[in-house]
Amino acid sequence: MEGKLFNIQKFSIHDGPGIRTTVFFKGCNLRCRWCHNPESIHKENQIEFYPEKCIGCGACYQVCAAGVHYQNVYGEHQMDRLKCTGCLLCAETCYSKALVGVGLNVDTTYLLNSILEDKPYYDNSSGGVTFSGGEAMLQIDFLEEIITLCKNKGIHTAVDTAGCVPWSYFERILNVTDLFLYDVKAADSTRHKQLTGVENQLILDNLYRLSDAGKEIIVRIPFIPGQNEDQIEEIGNILRHLKIIKVEVMPYHKLGNSKYKALGLKYELHQTQTPAEETVDKAVAIINKCGLKTCKT
Ligand code: SF4
Ligand code: SF4
Repeated sequence: MEGKLFNIQKFSIHDGPGIRTTVFFKGCNLRCRWCHNPESIHKENQIEFYPEKCIGCGACYQVCAAGVHYQNVYGEHQMDRLKCTGCLLCAETCYSKALVGVGLNVDTTYLLNSILEDKPYYDNSSGGVTFSGGEAMLQIDFLEEIITLCKNKGIHTAVDTAGCVPWSYFERILNVTDLFLYDVKAADSTRHKQLTGVENQLILDNLYRLSDAGKEIIVRIPFIPGQNEDQIEEIGNILRHLKIIKVEVMPYHKLGNSKYKALGLKYELHQTQTPAEETVDKAVAIINKCGLKTCKT
């Protein structure tokens, strides 16, 4: 079976315990205003364009049958992205890496072999594999197959999810998932919809059910100035009733901003600043007060 990814990150240390391979699925059903992986949002292949690297060789104009690449009246390289079929040929042709293709079709045999390459590191560090995204659970057939194969090989398995999928999807992977990394972005449903495009009822229902099922859960809260700072206390009040191993507060950063431009996407939060350390510490303290082990990442 084939799945659609955008990256396989080796030696990851931020997506669960120990040294891990993080597998990033392409495609997401939320539209978080601060998303730092904009290449994860759409399931289709995409092209990133970095004009500062372009040497003007014209190879992409030649190879693109859809006529996406053209020069405007000022001689500047432009892309008519609506015509793009996602074949990725231009990125393969671009010698200077001004064009970067985003999107990998992989089958479970290839992916399992890639994950197994680093098994000695997982074993020596209590690490494993994390399936992330995008939203990995949107490709539930593929996820169920690969995570079961990993589990059968004795690899610790984690799924990083925003939880906005039917509970039946969780049921299909409950027995083969050791740890859930579960995003909670706002307590108030109306605010959640403003920030992510969806309400949070299904997300919280699934979180309660996971907790009732006795699964290991680490909750991750993105901390975004001007967006959800005022939600922290209420999130803590929700989480205090659940069985959560740990809460991770993840401060806003700007590392993904340049990718929006490269993908031809609009970024709404370009005025937002990285929060001060003390502000993040206050958020951590608020969650701590709810009796939850909390850290910042
Ligand atoms: S192939 Fe790459 S370097 Fe050549 S014109 Fe196209 S973007 Fe520029
Ligand atoms: S991915 Fe294919 S269709 Fe899209 S711009 Fe490149 S060559 Fe053209």
